[in-house]
Amino acid sequence: MTTVFVSGATGYIAQHVVKELVANGYQVVGSVRSAEKGDKLKKLVGSNFSYEIVKDIQIEGAFNEALKRHPEVTVFLHTASPFHFKTTEPEKDLLIPAVNGTKNALSAVHKFAPQVKNVVITSSYAAIAPASKEVDNTATISETTWNDVTWEDATKDPVTGYRGSKTFAEKAAWEFVEVEKPNFILSTVNPVFVFGPQAFDSEVKDTLNTSAEIINALLKLSPDDEIPFFRGAYVDVRDVAKAHLTAFENKGAENSRLLLADGRFVTQNIVDILLENFSQLRGKIPIGEPGRGSDVESKLAKIDNEKTKKLLGFELIDLKKTVLDTVQQVLDVKGTI
Ligand code: NAP
Repeated sequence: MTTVFVSGATGYIAQHVVKELVANGYQVVGSVRSAEKGDKLKKLVGSNFSYEIVKDIQIEGAFNEALKRHPEVTVFLHTASPFHFKTTEPEKDLLIPAVNGTKNALSAVHKFAPQVKNVVITSSYAAIAPASKEVDNTATISETTWNDVTWEDATKDPVTGYRGSKTFAEKAAWEFVEVEKPNFILSTVNPVFVFGPQAFDSEVKDTLNTSAEIINALLKLSPDDEIPFFRGAYVDVRDVAKAHLTAFENKGAENSRLLLADGRFVTQNIVDILLENFSQLRGKIPIGEPGRGSDVESKLAKIDNEKTKKLLGFELIDLKKTVLDTVQQVLDVKGTI
């Protein structure tokens, strides 16, 4: 049985990755920040999951002991990284933990787990898309493009800080491979905004993880509120989990970046889906301007991820299903809004 190490196993995406791995016959060792978090996840996942405590990925040597204890690990998935915008110090809270966390993970694998054949890093569309190109409808963004953000600009605000943290962490990973020539093969998974239900109903809290909260926050609005404006691209978390397996199982994905995106959205598209499908939300949340988001694709850069879609070999979940499943779970768990 192959054993896979998943860093940041308690995260929104990572819990789905762990579930998918176990469903496909893998044994999983997850890193978590405390025994309490590890025990809780173990109860949910079952006997094919065990955990190691890694309190802070940015501390030098963070993963060394965990890997020394698991010589059976042959695949390492690095998902842990801060994803939030709640900081006035992006360099300290986002950039440094992301970059040093990635370097620590890779050097631990290199030094203490030479038997590991594949490393997959959960990078992001943030590392792929330059901010200026995102709103240029003549531009094409693909697996080969890079965010051109500078470290200095990334220290200035939390959104640029997060985008920079993913860019510099991924660059550090490819550089590590080039310089150190480790035994493992690297690939990255680069999702756009990830939506979809929590892996376990018990994870449905008042405030969800940063990306799912974009949808959850709409349920907290009053009819006269402005709809917060988000535009971007989406992919479902269940597809992101499956892609982490493709990234190390499919030879064609070796040394590649998998750009995960199904399509574009603005918040109005999500509101329209909610009001068409949940009668209990009518009169409770704002309607905005129904249909106004229909031309979003034509206003933003084209995302070309045909290469990734071929490697995945499965159909991606569409906006309607990802939104409906996210909200249905919240309504089921909370009973009402
Ligand atoms: P999440 O739920 O916040 O998960 C992040 C995980 O990383 C948590 O387990 C967290 O542990 C852990 N972590 C963060 N900083 C850490 C540190 N300094 N030391 C140890 N552990 C740390 O976020 P997510 O959405 O699942 O994101 C997972 C990965 O996907 C991240 O690399 C993120 O950049 C990437 N990504 C996410 C999206 C998206 O839309 N969700 C899109 C593209 C890429 P605690 O919870 O215990 O703090």
